[in-house]
Formats: sequence, structure tokens, C-alpha cells
Amino acid sequence: MRIAVFGAGPAGFFATEELLKRPGSGVTVDLFDRLPTPYGLVRGGVAPDHEKTKGVIKQFDRTAARPGFRFFGNVTFGADLSLAEVLAHYHQVLLATGAEGDRRLGIPGEDLPGSHAATAFVGWYNGHPDYRDSRFDLGAEQVVVVGNGNVAVDVARILTRSVDELARTDIAEHALEALRHSRVKEVSLLGRRGPAQAAFSNPELRELTALAGVDLVVRPEDIELDAVNRTFLERHASRHPQRNLELLVTQSASGEGTQPRKIRMRFFVSPVEILGTHTVEGLRVERTRLEEAQGGFHARGTGVFEEIRSRLVFRAVGYQGHRLAGVPFDDRHGIIPNQEGRVFEPLTGAPLPRVYVAGWIKRGPSGVIGTNRPDAVATVRVMLEDAERDSAFDTVSPDPDGVPALLARKQIQTVTFEGWTRIDAVEIAAGEQRGKPREKLTTRAQLLAATN
Ligand code: NAP
Repeated sequence: MRIAVFGAGPAGFFATEELLKRPGSGVTVDLFDRLPTPYGLVRGGVAPDHEKTKGVIKQFDRTAARPGFRFFGNVTFGADLSLAEVLAHYHQVLLATGAEGDRRLGIPGEDLPGSHAATAFVGWYNGHPDYRDSRFDLGAEQVVVVGNGNVAVDVARILTRSVDELARTDIAEHALEALRHSRVKEVSLLGRRGPAQAAFSNPELRELTALAGVDLVVRPEDIELDAVNRTFLERHASRHPQRNLELLVTQSASGEGTQPRKIRMRFFVSPVEILGTHTVEGLRVERTRLEEAQGGFHARGTGVFEEIRSRLVFRAVGYQGHRLAGVPFDDRHGIIPNQEGRVFEPLTGAPLPRVYVAGWIKRGPSGVIGTNRPDAVATVRVMLEDAERDSAFDTVSPDPDGVPALLARKQIQTVTFEGWTRIDAVEIAAGEQRGKPREKLTTRAQLLAATN
């Protein structure tokens, strides 16, 4: 059985491992990615100073070494290969394309120059080819980051961390150079709810408290618990909010501190407008309080407004999945509609035979890298179950080289896993000269050239 997996990020690799790990099962996997490089968000999303997190790549490389594995980089689903073409050549297809877009705030001024998606900044400092030409005004002394998730924390940390420390990571050289000249002194993180509801994880918050040259400043009035917050904590099963709160209480006692850079955490403020005529000049926010309604805890506006001055604003309010050509899409949740990973047409409820999903495009952008393993394993279980009783398999071309030949006819330069190892070697060698783990190549042309 031949399976095509689209998206060589964590979900795609975990699924591939699950499909290939049984020797003699007769399953082969072709893993495609629209970039010439594998690993998805582990390469393009995980912050450069979180090197340990990238250790999962070793597992992915063991998967890539399994018999029956092939990698085809630089192939875009829909544009280079249609769903019909894929289904003509593979018994099943698994879409693990993640959530590449960003969620918007939906407020006036969001598109003013100086207002950016945090995902663009993350892609830029990670050397993602799509964002290498992005520009951020790091001449600004005050920066605002909207959101209270781990991406917001990553952005605040990269903006304030010492450049000497960053220089020892695999941060893109263009970003390092820009950060060297940065005048950023203060980064304000805005949470629309309170510290107990913040989405960032405890180790990530702790890391902010320990950054050299940076004070994490928390206002005592923001961490006082009202009755609704106390109810929230009582009902919350995990210790996560309590741990974050304890850390923030300790931190608030340190006041302003004496370090040259500040990360200011503000809670209970919700942006209503990004201010400015031609470029961003600030942000108008409404103070909020926590309200319990409709089975959840929400930010409720108080009618009290405030302006925060800043020429650089990042929205870090979540990733958003993209529609794939020829595949149903649930716009509201930004996912491909599915039941246990089986894709279906929402209007009719009819299944899309032999098409499956895993990872963020299946369930939305939540959890950490490891969360995608059980998710992918669950989809693979369903795929293998269906394969037992699928009768459409005899329509599939028996030629394993049908798709490589098709791509060659379309003059698409694909990258094999061996081609990727050549890119890898070039990057590591360039990094050695600068005392960093690797120097990423950041254009498609550079990446493709390095495969030869
Ligand atoms: P996230 O964890 O979903 O956080 C989104 C944040 O945006 C929440 O605080 C949310 O507040 C806020 N928000 C949403 N809409 C808003 C609005 N209209 N106005 C103001 N605030 C709004 O998303 P993320 O930070 O993009 O992270 C995505 C996933 O990747 C998460 O699972 C995260 O843990 C993971 N990740 C992990 C790491 C790591 O482990 N180090 C690093 C990066 C990312 P509400 O709660 O009030 O909705």
C-alpha cells in the first residue's frame, strides 16, 4: 500500500513513523512538503533559543531512514499535484499541512504599516523563505504584543534577549543583524483575560523571569483575584493556572526592577483599535473583567478605555489553517472537517474516500509538538482499518514512480531526503564559521542550489 503524506512537520513525521514501523507490512510512504526542507514548525516555528525542543528532529531522521520512505520537498499540494492526481497514484492520502496563517483581531487599523502577525516575525527570525523579506521597525522603543500564548512569549523573549546569546543559536542572520541595531526597550504583552487564564506554559513564563538584562514587570492590581477568578481556579483541574499565578505574584513584588529592558505583562485589556493615520501610533484598549457565561469564562468590556503608545504591534492570537484546493474546509474553525481523521463533506456528510488528516489541520492549532504524536497515531489506526475493507484500491496506478515522473514532466524540481542532507551539511558548515549550530539558507533558490 502506497500512502502520500502532505506536510513534513511533526504530525506528518509522527504519522509516517506509525505507518512504517511495522517491518514487512508492505506500506510505503511518500512525504511531501511545499518547502525544500522537512520538519515544518520545528524548523520554521520553534524559537532559535529553544534548541532542546528541536531534538525531536533526531526521531524524524530515524523515520526517514526506514525502508519504504521517500521525501519530496518543494511540492505544493493543489498547485503542483491535485487531489485527483494524488488519489490516482496512492491508495490513501494524509493531509498534515498544519495551520500556516494567523488569526486576526478584526479591529480597525489592523492593516496599518507597523501592525504585524506574530507568525510573520517568527518566520522571519527562523529564516522561513516566505518571510525573509519582511521588515519590522526595531527602531521603536515600545512594542506591544497582543495575546497571552506561547507565541506571544517567544516574540517578547526574542525582542529582549541579549544579541550575544541569540548569536549562538540558529537564528537567521538577517534577524540577528536587525536585532543588533534594535532600540526596543519595552515589550508589553496584553492579555484580554487574567493571569489565571493565560495560555502560556509555566516553563516559558519562568524563562522570562530569568532573562539577563530584562525585568518582567507585573502590576499588583492585575493579579488580585475577584470572586469569578477564584471560581475559575477552583473548577480548573490542572495546576497550570495556579503555577503561573504564583510566579506572577512573586514577580509583581519585584516592582520595576533595574534592568535596561522590560517585559510588561498587562492583563484584563482587550484591543479595540490600532491607532494611527499612515502608520501605527498606538493601540486603544478596553479594560475588561472576567465573566462566567454560557459555560465559559470570558472577557467582558467595562467601558473604560486606555491608549498605549507604540509604533510596532504584533498580534499573537493564534495560528489559522488554510483551505487546500479540492478539499472541504471548515472556515469557522480553520480545519478540514473530519471524524477521527476521516475527511468528510460538511454539506452532505459524505466521506471523501481515502483522504485523511492529522495535526493542526485536523484539530486546530493547540498543544505542543508531542501532542501531534497520539493525534497522528489515532488517524493512522483509522487509515489501516479502512484499508482492510477498501474496494477502490484497484483503481490506483501500480507504478511507484508515477508521481516523480509526473512532477518531472511539470518541471518541478523536487528535493529528496538525500538532497535535504546536503542542504543540512551546507548550513552546518556555514554555522561553524560563525560559532552557531547552523546558518540557515533562507531563499528557495539557495536551498535548491545546495541540493546539488
Ligand atoms: P494560543 O496558545 O491559542 O494563545 C492565543 C492567545 O491569544 C490567548 O491568550 C488568547 O486569549 C489570545 N487571544 C485570542 N483572540 C484574541 C483577541 N481577539 N484579543 C486578544 N487576545 C486574544 O496560541 P499561540 O500562542 O499562537 O500558540 C499556538 C500553539 O503553539 C499553542 O498550543 C502553544 O502552546 C504552542 N506553542 C508552544 C510553544 C512552546 O512550547 N514553547 C511555543 C510556541 C507555540 P484567550 O485565552 O482569552 O482566548
